[in-house]
Amino acid sequence: VHRVAAGRVAAGRGERASNSSSVTLDLPDLPAPARRGAARALVGAIVGAALSSVLALGCARTPTLPGADLLLVTVDTLRADAVGFGGGATGDTPGLDALASESLVFPRARTPIPITSPALASLLTGRWPRNHGLLDNAFDLGRGPTLVEALADAGYGCAAFLPSFLADKPGLHPGFDLYSHPTLGQPPRRAQELVGEALAWIEATEAAGDDPWFLWLHALEPHAPYAGPAEEEQFCLAAAGLAGASVPPSLRLPRPSGAAPLDDVQRTLLAALYRAEVRGTDRALAPLWEKVQARRSGGRALLTVFTADHGELLGTRHDYVGHTAWLYEEMLRVPLLLHRSDGFGRGVRSELDASLHDVAGTVAAALEVDFAPTDQALDLFASFAERPRRLLVAETFAPEGEFDQQAVFFDGRKLHRAVFGPDGAPSAARPDYPRLYDLSVGGEYGPTAEGLDLAPGQPQDVERLDRLFAAWSFGQSAPAEWTRPAVGGELQRALEALGYSQGAGAGGQ
Ligand SMILES: [Zn+2]
Repeated sequence: VHRVAAGRVAAGRGERASNSSSVTLDLPDLPAPARRGAARALVGAIVGAALSSVLALGCARTPTLPGADLLLVTVDTLRADAVGFGGGATGDTPGLDALASESLVFPRARTPIPITSPALASLLTGRWPRNHGLLDNAFDLGRGPTLVEALADAGYGCAAFLPSFLADKPGLHPGFDLYSHPTLGQPPRRAQELVGEALAWIEATEAAGDDPWFLWLHALEPHAPYAGPAEEEQFCLAAAGLAGASVPPSLRLPRPSGAAPLDDVQRTLLAALYRAEVRGTDRALAPLWEKVQARRSGGRALLTVFTADHGELLGTRHDYVGHTAWLYEEMLRVPLLLHRSDGFGRGVRSELDASLHDVAGTVAAALEVDFAPTDQALDLFASFAERPRRLLVAETFAPEGEFDQQAVFFDGRKLHRAVFGPDGAPSAARPDYPRLYDLSVGGEYGPTAEGLDLAPGQPQDVERLDRLFAAWSFGQSAPAEWTRPAVGGELQRALEALGYSQGAGAGGQ
């Protein structure tokens, strides 16, 4: 074991030169430290060191499912703690909870970016957002390939059933035989309708031949505007002690900047409206799980992945309602489960810090499809039993505010960084950055979680995570590498209708 000075690695590029003592990490053997190569090795070692022996064993004992069908179901804006198997109310998501009880579940999974199109791109490419180049909903995919292309090359029939224009990225189309989505100006499609079409497509595909299939279905319901089934709203309002309350229409819509402060009743209403959408979504998806259940007792193998693109903040911080402008756990934590018809991993809850960008490589390995993971992605089937020290980064690229943000996770600590301007110079207007949190304090979503900023008293830990981020970013593309497309007209209006407006978020608290 060499002791590697992370600070020297970062400073070697001259980005964050510092005279302070360097932080050391116990790491296994590394290649000769040669600047960029050493930085990559450092990150690779942080990510992979604790895993290497596990992976070797894991690969040997993880059964694969070559030629299995693949069902990917994603729900927009679904918080990890909104589903029963993630700590939500019992009875809100009975369909998903039943599926989870037979699945390998990752309660600590996160999205690398809390924005729809970029998060879905990470899911399908196995890449960090700054490496696939789809930085917010206005961008297209800059770099693939996607898992779908690999599946198509392997002979899979591939179809996507999507609810809105947000997923209409030409870069995500290759490999799909059918890419069904509304275009700009058309209303979003409900999950119930998408499920019906998806099941019909499966039936037709299976009747037409023996090729395996991949089906991706994305449900939009929990995303604002909040307009769940009336009976679910009544139930949730009553459960919140607000039976019969009238809901101001503005509360259902994306919250504009400069809106009057929320009061406690409004926050309670918001939580109830959101909960009603989640309950309605669970019921709409239920027919899919019958299909999954049927494969447990025979027929071709089936691998099912269920997850979300990001969570949602419901007015409990900064009076913010939405997901793009901050990087709190409410927005980053997502439900994630893997279900296999052969029962592998059944009933296991993994402690692994999983990331959405792990999914593509995991699926490819399980199906024996040629798609090499990149970007420090882990094979979740091979590594779920361990809890390695893992460096994870989540980002948001100022879609609504005036500065980029990063969240850096390592050893139970979370650093909130902010980047002001191209040179990364601190802003006197935001002395609240950087912030450091111990994620074990106050519970994961409790009132004090991410509430006690440790940065003032623990500058060494801030420096350590900052240097880890600097080392990590050596191996990635720079956000500035990707050109923001011009957004105007109908796309601008459509994005604003979903709350993705300029100046609505981070800058205004
Ligand atoms: Zn989304």
